[in-house]
Amino acid sequence: MGGISETSGEYVDIGYKSWLKQDYLLDRMTLGDLVKAYFTYPAIQVYLLLFAVCVGAALYLMEAPLPLLLAAGLCFLVYPLVEYLLHRFLLHGRWLYKSPRTAALWNGALHTTLPIIVLVTAPIGWLSAGLPGIPAGLAAGFVIICFYEYGHCIQHLSYKPRLRYLQRIKRLHLAHHFHNETGNFGITSNIWDHVFGTYYGKPGAVPRSPTARNLGYTGQEQELYPWVADLTEAEGGDALAREGHGAT
Ligand SMILES: [Zn+2]
Ligand SMILES: [Zn+2]
Repeated sequence: MGGISETSGEYVDIGYKSWLKQDYLLDRMTLGDLVKAYFTYPAIQVYLLLFAVCVGAALYLMEAPLPLLLAAGLCFLVYPLVEYLLHRFLLHGRWLYKSPRTAALWNGALHTTLPIIVLVTAPIGWLSAGLPGIPAGLAAGFVIICFYEYGHCIQHLSYKPRLRYLQRIKRLHLAHHFHNETGNFGITSNIWDHVFGTYYGKPGAVPRSPTARNLGYTGQEQELYPWVADLTEAEGGDALAREGHGAT
């Protein structure tokens, strides 16, 4: 298992399996390695394929372009709120790993991301542009998830992004991972951290959290609710979650 717990030095794995931890040591990759790994990763290929299919369907069904652009635009606007809520209350909620039925959901994989993308973007598309709006909304959803995955990887790569915006969200996200996980939940935007009062600009602004690296899924919690640890071992946990707090 990966992720060294701060207190005991033992390996603690909290189980979120994403492509960046599965096969690669992200902090040792160059940007070129990352781009190559990114485009050859199956989940990203699936998103890109589905994006192409949805664009095709939207163009086929389209009567006028404006409502479809509106539908896609709305998805982009709503997305940061969805990202914030899922990250804060689902991935950082303790209830998910307490049942063997939902423990697998703690792992981020296509079977968890796709239903969320569909549930969020298809209704927005349909409400704003009718039937053709559904593939338009979905297409926006697939672009967004690709951007999210890329942004999140860059945040964990030993590399300073050129864009100041990326530099800023990277700094905030690393503070979330390694300093205090009860704030800075935004990955692609911190707007909702400001709205909900969970934003902190500098690590010095909030105390260091002892559970930042493992979300409290360690020791007694892990013994009481072993499902995530078991799943991770069954899937070859040695390669996983080397960065500590795995989720997002
Ligand atoms: Zn992260
Ligand atoms: Zn997190």
